[in-house]
Amino acid sequence: MDNFELIRKIKDLQAAKNAVIMAHYYQEPEIQDMADFVGDSLALAQKAVETDAEIIVLAGVNFMAETAKILNPSKKVLLPDTEAGCSLADSCPADQFEAFLSAHPGYTVITYVNTTAAVKALSDITCTSSNAMQVVASLPKDEKIIFGPDRNLGNYINSLTDRDMLVWDGACHVHEEFSLEKILELKKTHPNAKLLAHPECPKPILIVADHIGSTAELLKFSKTDTASEYIVATESGILHRMQKESPQKCFIPAPPNDSTCACNNCRFMKLVTVQKIYDCLCNETNEVVLDENIRLKAEKPIRRMLGISGSK
Ligand code: SF4
Repeated sequence: MDNFELIRKIKDLQAAKNAVIMAHYYQEPEIQDMADFVGDSLALAQKAVETDAEIIVLAGVNFMAETAKILNPSKKVLLPDTEAGCSLADSCPADQFEAFLSAHPGYTVITYVNTTAAVKALSDITCTSSNAMQVVASLPKDEKIIFGPDRNLGNYINSLTDRDMLVWDGACHVHEEFSLEKILELKKTHPNAKLLAHPECPKPILIVADHIGSTAELLKFSKTDTASEYIVATESGILHRMQKESPQKCFIPAPPNDSTCACNNCRFMKLVTVQKIYDCLCNETNEVVLDENIRLKAEKPIRRMLGISGSK
């Protein structure tokens, strides 16, 4: 079956099973275009709270499907490819994080949603790159904070807020791989292009960026800003949406260090295909199952984040 036929069958299955397909901005264009909802991690979590569908197919990675399940314990949450993990979540194993917290008592623990349910269960509040500043600002200036797992985002927030959060030493392979040297070369050949960078990028790239923001923020900026050309230093899937929303503008993916690898494509996100969405919905396979004790503990910090962000 080709994708056109598969998508038609997926729509029929969705109607029969009351299923919703939610996709992250880093998914392949055809998946973004067929999904009922496309968003960043925060928007996906907010949408997961609102949906009345009985089945949620999460076209994204494991921590996103876990978050949807944590918020919807009675619903079936399906992940099209169970190998779709996250290098950032992997950089923060729950046992090591727990030992770190034990060694630093008295801290409020903020973790990025890009973590396993077990790490969320150890946290006081979660955040996404869209609301990290808002979450940190919700705490008193003198509050002792541990922030994890992304060191670049944590250090960026420290620099903006003049806080001294203890930052876990984790990172995402996509954002770590951008080449400052090649970006500066690209800027020479595109002198009017603005550099848009995600705060998960290392500091030298953030220093030369024209605008820093979460995926959703960069998308918004690219629509409202007056430039006609942009170099985009985040996962390349977002370029599809940027181009769609601003067809008259030019979007150039920021180059990675290794030009032989497509490192600005998240290898986990790109595991999801239309065929895998069809298979998991048709057979109701790859269901996310969580230990109820962990789920309950992980739900509290996510709900606290959603409360700060003005959601339920
Ligand atoms: S882009 Fe990075 S943070 Fe996002 S899912 Fe992929 S590995 Fe994880």
